[in-house]
Amino acid sequence: MKIIMLGAPGAGKGTQAKKIAAKYNIPHISTGDIFRANIKNGTELGKKAKTYMDQGLLVPDELVVDLVVDRLNQDDCKEGYVLDGFPRTIPQAEALDGALGKLGQKVDFAIDVDVPDENIIHRMGGRRACVGCGATYHLEHAPTKVEGICDMCGQELILRDDDKPETVKKRLGVYHEQTKPLINYYTTAGILKTVDGTVDIEDVFQAIVNILGE
Ligand code: ADP
Ligand code: AMP
Repeated sequence: MKIIMLGAPGAGKGTQAKKIAAKYNIPHISTGDIFRANIKNGTELGKKAKTYMDQGLLVPDELVVDLVVDRLNQDDCKEGYVLDGFPRTIPQAEALDGALGKLGQKVDFAIDVDVPDENIIHRMGGRRACVGCGATYHLEHAPTKVEGICDMCGQELILRDDDKPETVKKRLGVYHEQTKPLINYYTTAGILKTVDGTVDIEDVFQAIVNILGE
């Protein structure tokens, strides 16, 4: 099963993608996580990506597409995957379709987690990310067992620089301009499914399971 998660930054793509990956036993591939891991490891790609990410801008398509195509060619992707944060532009979607087409494959579902902008600003202000493993939480909606400490690895939680209110506004603008057109793209392709992302995390997940099947 090949699944794409669509939605504004902070809509809950990562939260749901992790649950989908666990239930259907497929890898969760987050381009944001890949870039953050590169930044942490001080790679050339990380240095380049950081300059865009810190400003709330998208990393240029040419730095993203090959990276994702290489990842999808790895063995663990044979049975499918859930892509979180990619594609984010029409050229990225076309490149993905092109790469899959060469292998006689296609995306099965594009799931749009729909959340209005007003909710997003609140969500992002409460999101906390682990400095160690990158796991994300929410102060109110997905709290850790011990305040400020990651449940997974015990390291400290922070507010990501790109989750600060001014950057979130910028990212939302970029989303509307460059990413939202993908809703039409996947509607035309006949694979768009929309879920209400404003309800509880478990209820969003149930709506997704209803689409993907038990
Ligand atoms: P994205 O991957 O789309 O940027 P995340 O999955 O990281 O978004 O979610 C953004 C923030 O909102 C996180 O702090 C997360 O815990 C919280 N969150 C996710 N889904 C919900 C939901 N349905 N209701 C309330 N908060 C949520
Ligand atoms: P995310 O964790 O998915 O919200 O991504 C964080 C940041 O990484 C984004 O704001 C972009 O700067 C960058 N990024 C992640 N995925 C992509 C992508 N597919 N195309 C361009 N930039 C991306």
